[in-house]
Amino acid sequence: MTLTSPAAEQGEMHPSRWGDPARAAALPDTARGLIEMVFGLDERPALAEVSVPPPAIDTKVLDELAATLGAEHVLTDDATRRLRTRGKSTPDLLRQRAGDLTDAPDAVVRPGSHDDVMAVLAWAVAHHVAVVPFGGGTCVTGGLAARRDGFAGLVSLDLVRLKRLLDVDHTSMTATLEPGLRGPEAEALLAAEGLTLGHFPQSFEYASIGGFAATRSSGQSSAGYGRFDALVVGLRVATPSGEVSLGSAPANAAGPDLRQLFLGSEGAFGVITAVTVRVRRLPAEKVYEGWRWPSFVDGAAAMRTLAQAGLLPTVIRLSDEAETAINLARPEEIGQSEIGGQSAGGCLMITGFEGEPDAVSARRAAVTAVLSGLGGQSLGEEPGASWVKGRFDAPYLRDSLLDVGVLVETLETATFWSGLETLYAGVRSALEASLGDGAMVLCHISHVYETGCSLYFTVAQKAAADPLSQWLDAKAAACDAITEAGATITHHHAVGTDHKPWLSAEIGDVGVSVLRAVKADLDPTGVLNPGVLVP
Ligand SMILES: Cc1cc2nc3c(=O)[nH]c(=O)nc-3n(C[C@H](O)[C@H](O)[C@H](O)COP(=O)(O)OP(=O)(O)OC[C@H]3O[C@@H](n4cnc5c(N)ncnc54)[C@H](O)[C@@H]3O)c2cc1C
Repeated sequence: MTLTSPAAEQGEMHPSRWGDPARAAALPDTARGLIEMVFGLDERPALAEVSVPPPAIDTKVLDELAATLGAEHVLTDDATRRLRTRGKSTPDLLRQRAGDLTDAPDAVVRPGSHDDVMAVLAWAVAHHVAVVPFGGGTCVTGGLAARRDGFAGLVSLDLVRLKRLLDVDHTSMTATLEPGLRGPEAEALLAAEGLTLGHFPQSFEYASIGGFAATRSSGQSSAGYGRFDALVVGLRVATPSGEVSLGSAPANAAGPDLRQLFLGSEGAFGVITAVTVRVRRLPAEKVYEGWRWPSFVDGAAAMRTLAQAGLLPTVIRLSDEAETAINLARPEEIGQSEIGGQSAGGCLMITGFEGEPDAVSARRAAVTAVLSGLGGQSLGEEPGASWVKGRFDAPYLRDSLLDVGVLVETLETATFWSGLETLYAGVRSALEASLGDGAMVLCHISHVYETGCSLYFTVAQKAAADPLSQWLDAKAAACDAITEAGATITHHHAVGTDHKPWLSAEIGDVGVSVLRAVKADLDPTGVLNPGVLVP
């Protein structure tokens, strides 16, 4: 065991903010003026750093693990444990800002191989220690805040050392990646082979391959490349009951598809130690553009037409009237009233096309014909380029807004096309009623299918004296509205601990008992991510 801190190593996020600490910034002046006008300014700096509670695990038990992994891979220093405390939802950030580190792991353990992971699990079972798999730490649903009562301790199983590209099959167009690779690292390794995964969630810069699989993530280009679970063809998983290796063919009829059991299992059934994914050739051309629609309903109908005609672009998203008015919340452009040099109004749609030039031209022409025919107004490439430039900026803006006393958070859901208007109205009014006068509720359609789409809401409101309760009440109201509308409690953020109270309503009592039975079989003593996912 070591007490020295390697936490300052490159690429760690700030513990109570999103992303690269060097990019933490005050609000740009344009935004500051607008925020002052709408919400007032109420500077709320984070508390000075509070110490992490001392490790509550017997050091002899940890020493046993250190003998297997190497002392330098069993860490108990404050900084490392702080950085492995919870994820990056607004409640997570608010708790860190308030100095609440009660969910800190007792130690951070860093296995270097699949066999090491198996050894950590055997050790955890032997000593009844809770284990929280940790990929990029970008979780927004409490999936890293496992229960610790009844356990001899709780460790964060950090996959940071599992970062290899294990195999590339250029004939089958598959690649096998280790789980600790973050999005940019995986893309860089694949790019050297002329390939791409094409998975770009907004958390891309920090989220990991294992995390994408464990949460069934969906990215900004998933209309073209597919959701992460659709990209996975094989998995290797370490469980307390043994190893599971899946994916012997592109498709099979060998009973239910067990890969789907581990995709979305959020560390509760096993630790994913390798992921084989379908890959594509790096696109030679990328073009993004903007369209304006008279209303959200009109734009959504156009998306449905494209999806059902088999004509989806690689990227397609549609902001509602409110989100359009603040122009996709790009920090440097908040308050401007123009889209692509034309006066704002209606709803902004972004479309993007990636691939070989001929294929891009053909699909773009076909999409343009459909959208123009339905009454869409082309805004050209400027709004598309602008979206690309700012596509990973919003989480930094959230921190700057929290700094000046504005509560900001997002939530997402999905439904069939026929239920879209009811869901949109229900969630919107639940959020507005809970957050009160002056609340800003913005929405966009972020993912589109033949049969339906997802809705992604962003809220902003002047922070109350207790912003955590303010948000938790609003979120509960929105989750109730989602359940009432018969929609899913999560389209891509997963269940974690935050969505668990609503999961039973979605999958029913028998569904819950199936999850419990799988958990009992793979993790009989319940050491894996206790309290996460399984009701
Ligand atoms: C600003 C922001 C933007 C986001 N945008 C998107 C988005 O566009 N699309 C989207 O889908 N999500 C998004 N998310 C949510 C989050 O990034 C995803 O859920 C992501 O897939 C989590 O990956 P991670 O590596 O960070 O996992 P972590 O946060 O480390 O873990 C997530 C869960 O998976 C488990 N886990 C992690 N690795 C493994 C493993 N190898 N084996 C077993 N279990 C494991 C953890 O225990 C935890 O329960 C966003 C989050 C933030 C903060």
